[in-house]
Amino acid sequence: MKGIPVLQAKGLVKRFGGLAAVNNVDVDLYRDQITAVIGPNGAGKSTLTNLLSGDLPPTEGRITLNGNIIGGHSPESIARLGLGRSYQKTNIFLPLTVWDNIRLAAQAKEQHLPFNPLHWLTRADRNARVQARCEKALQLARLEHRRHQVAATISHGEQRQLEIAMTLATEPTVLLLDEPLAGMGQAEAERMVELLLALKAEHAMMLVEHDMEAVFALADNLTVMVNGQVIAAGTPEEVRNDAGVQAAYLGEEAEA
Ligand code: ADP
Ligand code: MG
Repeated sequence: MKGIPVLQAKGLVKRFGGLAAVNNVDVDLYRDQITAVIGPNGAGKSTLTNLLSGDLPPTEGRITLNGNIIGGHSPESIARLGLGRSYQKTNIFLPLTVWDNIRLAAQAKEQHLPFNPLHWLTRADRNARVQARCEKALQLARLEHRRHQVAATISHGEQRQLEIAMTLATEPTVLLLDEPLAGMGQAEAERMVELLLALKAEHAMMLVEHDMEAVFALADNLTVMVNGQVIAAGTPEEVRNDAGVQAAYLGEEAEA
């Protein structure tokens, strides 16, 4: 039983002038499930991610997150409703320490809480809460040993872990990750796969990823996009055996 989707999108369309970068796409993300989105460059994967996160307004379609209609809302308000995302390019503050990066991400959320006199009265409590959230994110992302290090001095793989820690510090229920393994060596990629598997239990996750080994290791559901459209969706096995997908995409990959 999958239950109720944490995030659901129906009939999403995004047009850039005459180009339908995302063309009538549905998405259902469930807690404790990883949905991987694959497809050639230009298929619309990043655009889809940007629609779900509010970085781009959809031309058409409906998106709900934890029961709230979010289509057209700002990224900040969508984040407050429980959506965390990472970007294809890392988004960290290189001169700051690992801890300060996480702390800033957590505070950014806290500052947007609606005004509440009880919160105002308990500033110390609030600080303690932010502190605890950061500590948990640091641990979940397995970066305790890098806490005091300046972000510029940690490895590329650890910078990607840091980006995930910054996302976790906002306590999301949905995680959207755009190519979290990009540019990683084998060992770094394996560590990230393990980390993502560990995060699965508490989150609904959507992963855009080119690394097929990682995709097949991680995904419960696989969606294949080509030219803005979903050409196949199902379990990894179902998609792997789909003749249309092999012709349009996986076959092409194998030959490359
Ligand atoms: P993917 O992430 O699958 O490689 P993208 O979502 O980045 O694909 O791009 C899908 C298509 O939309 C591409 O043809 C791209 O050139 C186009 N596109 C993406 N963003 C924009 C934009 N802001 N303005 C115009 N065209 C865009
Ligand atoms: Mg992309």
